[in-house]
Amino acid sequence: MQIFKMIKTDILIIGAGPVGLFAVFEAGLMKLRCHIIDIVSSPGGQLTELYPKKPIYDIPGYPKILAGKLIENLLEQAKPFKPGFTLGERADSFKKIGEFFEITTNMGTKLQGKVIFIAGGLGSMEPRKPKISLIDKFERKGIEFYVKNPDAYLDKKISISGGGDSALDWAIYFSKKCKNPINLIHRSKSFRANKDSVDKIFELKKGGKLNLYLDSEVVSIDGENDHLNSLSVKDRNETKYKLDTDCWFPLFGLVPKLGPLGNWGLDLERNAIKVDNTNNYSTNIKGIFAIGDINTYEGKLKLILCGFHEATLAVHGAYKIIHPDKKKNLKYTTIQGVTGFD
Ligand SMILES: Cc1cc2nc3c(=O)[nH]c(=O)nc-3n(C[C@H](O)[C@H](O)[C@H](O)COP(=O)(O)OP(=O)(O)OC[C@H]3O[C@@H](n4cnc5c(N)ncnc54)[C@H](O)[C@@H]3O)c2cc1C
Repeated sequence: MQIFKMIKTDILIIGAGPVGLFAVFEAGLMKLRCHIIDIVSSPGGQLTELYPKKPIYDIPGYPKILAGKLIENLLEQAKPFKPGFTLGERADSFKKIGEFFEITTNMGTKLQGKVIFIAGGLGSMEPRKPKISLIDKFERKGIEFYVKNPDAYLDKKISISGGGDSALDWAIYFSKKCKNPINLIHRSKSFRANKDSVDKIFELKKGGKLNLYLDSEVVSIDGENDHLNSLSVKDRNETKYKLDTDCWFPLFGLVPKLGPLGNWGLDLERNAIKVDNTNNYSTNIKGIFAIGDINTYEGKLKLILCGFHEATLAVHGAYKIIHPDKKKNLKYTTIQGVTGFD
């Protein structure tokens, strides 16, 4: 029997993008605890997944900041409030148990919070899956679309498909740490990744730490007893290779989908969650707020700084629900300070 750990907190936040992360800080100022769930295995939302190395110019106080750096800063800002994280899991369903909402993830984890913030951006970033037979059969039995716990794979025979930053970063990581050389398979001759990473890949190939299959793709997979054994790879000249593999990471990027949140009974408008912007971005379900790119109201702008504003007001809405008898006065951080910072 599988036993799942129960997590209990004040605010359950769906989405570790910039808006979800900033909500942790604002909640911390009001002594509310948060736990974040994200289907992606590292925090940052679109900024980490789509444009980590691009500069952003419209964050107040930063004339220019790289998207990846902004996420690092937001994590540091949230750190004194010790948020919990459930990463690599999708929030699938919820029910009300007494004063708590209980969310169940696609992996069966159950989390309870008095309030839910949906900061799901464009929706959950789902992996783009190659259309090959048996792919579902071996998912999580040798085929992994996210690298959730890298050290668990170090003694495996690893193959990685893809030509973007994520595929190359993990190929470099595993080539350096695994005793077996890594197979990197990419359907084109050139990569779409950072030049430094591309140079490193060719160095690792030279050093015998990595086998590179360019202009090639995986056409079939083979395994037995729920265990992956090998991949068949074909190049443009129709030459076929059989690669012994017990762990294959097809890293072809992520596609945003509203997914299960669309069935939660929330009022929706064109794939976004309708909120009341005169009432702290609350949804039609009391205790559930939607902030950032995922919400819609008249005049909505999908900008990070607008999401920060929405998160701040939603926290004040959450406080009223969690502590209905207490009155909270706004205190400047310059006056109250933040424990954990000098
Ligand atoms: C190329 C590009 C450039 C941009 N440049 C700028 C700019 O210069 N300035 C600016 O202000 N904005 C910019 N944006 C927009 C900005 O990135 C978004 O406004 C911002 O990311 C919204 O943040 P968020 O936290 O609401 O959502 P996101 O960043 O989308 O994060 C949402 C997270 O929620 C997770 N999630 C969703 N549903 C679930 C679920 N059911 N279970 C678990 N996890 C879930 C997703 O996996 C994701 O990680 C840009 C966007 C792009 C694509």
